[in-house]
Amino acid sequence: MDSGNLLNMIDSHCHLDFQVFDRDRESIVQTCLSLGVDGLLVPSTTVTSFNKVLELAKRYPVIRPALGLHPYFLNGKVQSDLEELSVYLEKNDVVAVGEIGLDNWPGCCDLDVQIEVFESQLKIAKAMSLPVILHARKSEDLLLKSINRLKFDCGGIVHAFNGSLDQAKRLHALGFVFGVGGTITYERAKKARRVLASLPDSAIVLETDSPDMPLHGYQGEPNMPYRVLDVARCVSEIRGQSVDMVSAMTTNNLKRTLPNW
Ligand SMILES: [Zn+2]
Repeated sequence: MDSGNLLNMIDSHCHLDFQVFDRDRESIVQTCLSLGVDGLLVPSTTVTSFNKVLELAKRYPVIRPALGLHPYFLNGKVQSDLEELSVYLEKNDVVAVGEIGLDNWPGCCDLDVQIEVFESQLKIAKAMSLPVILHARKSEDLLLKSINRLKFDCGGIVHAFNGSLDQAKRLHALGFVFGVGGTITYERAKKARRVLASLPDSAIVLETDSPDMPLHGYQGEPNMPYRVLDVARCVSEIRGQSVDMVSAMTTNNLKRTLPNW
């Protein structure tokens, strides 16, 4: 049974810096707090978003920042962007380097360039003993390869994990946990639901990826970080655990994985 108390739930991945939230950000944050969602991890996507993410974290104590270069938004000046990332990480407190990773989807940037930029960022994170927030799309094995090649041992979160149980086990052994979001609210997401049901308690964190990945029933609207509550309810049903338990274990997992939280 649920206690009815506020749940201290964390949305481990939302892009509250995006322009679509400029008008309503204040009330969205207040709604989160009133519902017991008292932690929001906002990862950056490009150098141009660094200042906004950091400013939001200063303004709203509920927001924790991560800085990194998202593979989907790489441009022609990756070298200077990487240098700028290092400078920002030296000067600012963040909970992770992210969002970084590999997007193996048609139309995305050249995969060799992505791997080079990803590995550069893994090196930066390792040198600063920071965990990472990973973007993985059809790229879990490639991510594992880079992580192993660089002996990256600071762990992190694989956001919107959609890989196999075997890939999850290998990543979890390296200190990674898995962001579970709106995908699992769709009954057709059989594989993701099956993997979720089999993951150990220690491997799960909650996320929304707002404004993307709308939950079932909210298609066509920007996703909201407070809907992490609906994700938790769905996880609770699929895993046969109470919402209180899901909330407690995912918050513990997040704080263990991101010690600067
Ligand atoms: Zn993201």
